[in-house]
Amino acid sequence: MSIWQREITIALLSLFAVAVIGGLTGYWLPMLLAVALIFLCRQIYQINRFERWIRVGGKGGYPNTKGIWEEIYYHVYRIKKNDKRRKKKLGKMIDQFRQSTEALPDAAVVLGSDDEIEWANKAALNVLGLQQSDKGQRILNLLRYPEFVRYFDAKDFRDAIILPSPVDANIILAVRIVSYGAGLRLLLAQDVTQLKQMERMRKDFVANVSHELRTPLTVLKGYIETLQDLDDGGSALLTGSLEQMRGQTERMQHLVDDLLMLTRLETQQRRTLCVDMPALLKQICSEGGGVENSSGHIELSLESEVNIHGDEQELRSAFTNLLGNALKYSPADSVVNVRWFQDGDTAVLEVQDRGIGIAAADIPRVTERFYRAESHHGRKTPGTGLGLAIVKHVLLRHDARLHIISELGKGSCFSCHFPANRLCD
Ligand code: ADP
Repeated sequence: MSIWQREITIALLSLFAVAVIGGLTGYWLPMLLAVALIFLCRQIYQINRFERWIRVGGKGGYPNTKGIWEEIYYHVYRIKKNDKRRKKKLGKMIDQFRQSTEALPDAAVVLGSDDEIEWANKAALNVLGLQQSDKGQRILNLLRYPEFVRYFDAKDFRDAIILPSPVDANIILAVRIVSYGAGLRLLLAQDVTQLKQMERMRKDFVANVSHELRTPLTVLKGYIETLQDLDDGGSALLTGSLEQMRGQTERMQHLVDDLLMLTRLETQQRRTLCVDMPALLKQICSEGGGVENSSGHIELSLESEVNIHGDEQELRSAFTNLLGNALKYSPADSVVNVRWFQDGDTAVLEVQDRGIGIAAADIPRVTERFYRAESHHGRKTPGTGLGLAIVKHVLLRHDARLHIISELGKGSCFSCHFPANRLCD
């Protein structure tokens, strides 16, 4: 018999007893009232007992009782027990998570919806100079570097920013914000001092080697040219060798020049002026993008008079590389279109060719240093593989973006997009 059937049977039996005894004595109404009262008092007593038990959190076992109330006590007790077990498990997980984040070598700070510090691990205290008492303080009140404030306010957290540690300026940190949940953010700071030191060593090494190679190469080229002048053509081997030496020396000179340009871009301050873009583009196009003996035709279309705040030498180098590539990687006599125009509030320089094009898989890689996609289509075009790396760097220093659209065998379109804050009249 189920618990409810039992309860109903007891109620029915009680009613039956009231009806029989009431019928015999003639007091069935007072008897009915008395039985109802007993039922009511019993339920009030049980409710009161239950309320007292639940008020103290249902601790320990439940009171000894029978019938439907025993069932109610048992269910509540079971729910509470499961809840306790779940809480314990969750607490253990949180403890483990805290312990692992505490052990992390990288600083981690949990930020609330008002950018206030909710939690920070040990590394954050050491490397960012935070204190336990800083909890609840806004992170911008504690990390006051202007670059960090700009980064934080811009809300573009795709890349990390490099900052010195507030505790020790010799420690370099890569700081990054990761958004999660509703308005919550995690600030991560990684010690990249060693990485930056190695990068500086690499830059210094490349800069020094390039610089040191420059003079011997110029001397070598001078001697080769003198020997070529003296060569009367009597020996085909000598003439050929001298020509090859000249070609290779020139190639090395280009490489050294490109490496020096990249070093300059990485280390030197920009000289920002309002650069007359139409005049600059006219000049670069008239010089044929620096490509010797090119039979390609350049069509320049100046659809805007707008100018750019920037470094003229850097912009010249970037555009010369783009135009030079367009001519280099196109068949003889093909046309290269150069367009300068405005698209909404941005200014765009577009260099379009009908040349050999770039395979889709190579497009994301062509701006890497020394990456040359041409080997895939078997052409032997001279180059250093540094031209587009220079273009990328220059554009980065001018807050501009490079777009590449290309199809093998059809041609390429390289466009440089300058944002509104870079435009001047
Ligand atoms: P490179 O000195 O080899 O031209 P770049 O960095 O300028 O070096 O270019 C990298 C590679 O991108 C080139 O080797 C070439 O394969 C490809 N590339 C660049 N511009 C073009 C273009 N306009 N058409 C086809 N391929 C191009």
